Amino acid sequence: MKARFETQAIHVGSEPDPLTGAVIPPIHLTSTYAQESPGVHKGYDYSRADNPTREKYEQALAALEGAKYATAFSSGVAATSAVATLLSPGDHVICSDDTYGGTYRLFEKVYKKYGIEFSYVDTSNLKNIKLKKNTKLIWVETPSNPLMKISDIKGIASKKEDALLVVDNTFSSPYLLQPHTFGADIVIHSATKYLGGHSDLIGGAATTNDKKLFEEFKFIQKAVGAVPSPLDCYLAHRGIKTLALRMKAHSENGQRVAEFLAEHPKITKVFYPGLPSHPGHEIAKKQMRAFSGMVSFEFNGNVKGLISNMKYFTLAESLGGIESLVNHPASMTHASIPPAELKRRGIGHNLVRLSVGVEHPDDLLDDLSSVLSKY
Ligand SMILES: *Cc1c(COP(=O)(O)O)cnc(C)c1O
Repeated sequence: MKARFETQAIHVGSEPDPLTGAVIPPIHLTSTYAQESPGVHKGYDYSRADNPTREKYEQALAALEGAKYATAFSSGVAATSAVATLLSPGDHVICSDDTYGGTYRLFEKVYKKYGIEFSYVDTSNLKNIKLKKNTKLIWVETPSNPLMKISDIKGIASKKEDALLVVDNTFSSPYLLQPHTFGADIVIHSATKYLGGHSDLIGGAATTNDKKLFEEFKFIQKAVGAVPSPLDCYLAHRGIKTLALRMKAHSENGQRVAEFLAEHPKITKVFYPGLPSHPGHEIAKKQMRAFSGMVSFEFNGNVKGLISNMKYFTLAESLGGIESLVNHPASMTHASIPPAELKRRGIGHNLVRLSVGVEHPDDLLDDLSSVLSKY
């Protein structure tokens, strides 16, 4: 019988070291490997191509996504870029219009000039998935960043024809959502966020069940060279061992915070898929195990004052760590998106995004309540 998620998270890629019995495998801090004679070695020749610490982390990642293969990259953006290098001039990409700002920047400022065409549409509405003859890729982020729109992965997969369906699963993590089981060809992650989970590393990954795609990713990993260090692989691997525990706590706290904000008279709108009023709630319930710790809301008072004076929510970019963070998308994470495009997407100056951590929820609610009484 196949082990369950929590068990795989702890055991896959974490077998005791055969040489010493060390329960935690050693970190292989080496750039190169001794060869007996030219080309005769133990399967490793240079750490950009292969490294045992990275390999074990990749095995664990693949298992958690329910995928055959995982490839680790030095950042989430590097993983996104690896996917983009699968494209050729003249290819067309359909992309969720509410994605991480850096994804938009990479597509618009880097890949567009190589003759790749991008359409940004609201993928939470299946009607907007309109393939062109040259559509090679559909890029979906669900829940999206920062408006928490939910896209129906199974529905999109049924319309994708020969295009590759890529899901950026950063906001859910594989504990809450396994996009491959709904038909995604590639899943990418910023391991910097929930996978690593402790705000102490930058990393990314791509998973797939397709051997040919995996071989392409392995090639790009080595040929382009955006590889994570053995130390970062170790940290990310250690992080995912507690992913299930953390995601349960993030989701419980996220729900409490979203419900609190929804009731608060000073808050005009809350974006959280765990609220029954959220337009994507029913689809989220079908494809996700819980709703994660990401909550956005609109506040029409002194936003700057509010977000700069919280006790436990630190004003910072990023998300998915054990500690709570608050972010102002329009001027921080999404500042690389032109103002007109921000407006079109509905990301205003009154929008605040929270990454709800795993502190005691009552302390988080006290913090929010106190700061909302002042601003
Ligand atoms: C942060 C983030 C990325 C980029 O990842 P990095 O590790 O910062 O390069 C991509 N997608 C989403 C949804 C993110 O939140």
